[in-house]
Amino acid sequence: MSENYHSGFVAIMGRPNVGKSTLVNAFLQQKIAPVSPRPQTTRRKQLGILTLENAQVIFVDTPGVHQPRHKLGEKMNAEAMKTLEESDLILFIADVTVFPGDDDNNLAGWVAKLKQRPPIILALNKMDRASNQQLEDIPSAYHQLVPQAQLHLISASKRQNLEELLTSIINLLPFGMPLFSEAQLTDLYERDLAGELVRESCLIYLQDEIPHGITVRIDQFTERNEHGAYIEATIFVERESHKGIVIGQNGLMLKKIGAHARKEIEEMSGRKVFLSLRVKVSKNWRNSEKMLRRFNY
Ligand code: GDP
Ligand code: MG
Repeated sequence: MSENYHSGFVAIMGRPNVGKSTLVNAFLQQKIAPVSPRPQTTRRKQLGILTLENAQVIFVDTPGVHQPRHKLGEKMNAEAMKTLEESDLILFIADVTVFPGDDDNNLAGWVAKLKQRPPIILALNKMDRASNQQLEDIPSAYHQLVPQAQLHLISASKRQNLEELLTSIINLLPFGMPLFSEAQLTDLYERDLAGELVRESCLIYLQDEIPHGITVRIDQFTERNEHGAYIEATIFVERESHKGIVIGQNGLMLKKIGAHARKEIEEMSGRKVFLSLRVKVSKNWRNSEKMLRRFNY
């Protein structure tokens, strides 16, 4: 490695649903973070590691910031703040089809309060579906929130302007040796990823009021060599009434959730997977310190 090698941590921030996970996945060209049309899909801090010839970029996909309504929410915000302070660069992502709102103001307020001030890039995403009027009016509204930021217009899902964005990111990172081995894409084990993919599948199929009360525990993950992997997982819901909804009539909903998750896990791991799911009630787990610890939040 030469002395021209860059490496460092890039903290990704932005309100829920602006496309943070989609962007990291696009850079890594592989699905490591759950993506769904619902906000708050990403709950854990997760690294995405991109190793190139001239740089190693370590993306930290922070959980979406929002007004905390329960203990899990508070933990998520504290975690996000720490991530920003420890990063070498902040990548602020926003949706160029929506004017800045309270969440964006709060995020900008946090950035202003940081003691260490990493450089900032403002990436305005979803340009593929923005009108000319939006492209004219909205970028400057965001830029006013973080005037020190470098501005990029991108589309994560259509892969527009991502090369330019990546070049800017690399140039702003400090010089240094790679911190992770080249083969490592993420710090989460396949097992954890499988759990996240089951949860993502729940978010896709279930009604609005249930998904945020769901967490998934992987009970068994065993290799069956040429036959692939055998996975047993438990979906925890907060209420008895939710259990019935997740299982569905004749178990049909759980079947749909399982089939989708299995396909995603197979895609991620490149081999066959047998997935067995069950549903359990764990009352009010989001407000219980003990349960949060047990689920590793
Ligand atoms: P996050 O909550 O910020 O991590 O957002 P996600 O990555 O989960 O994306 C939220 C939604 O926006 C998903 O339905 C994505 O497919 C969609 N999305 C992400 N990037 C783009 C984009 O560049 N253009 C369009 N049209 N949709 C996008
Ligand atoms: Mg996300």
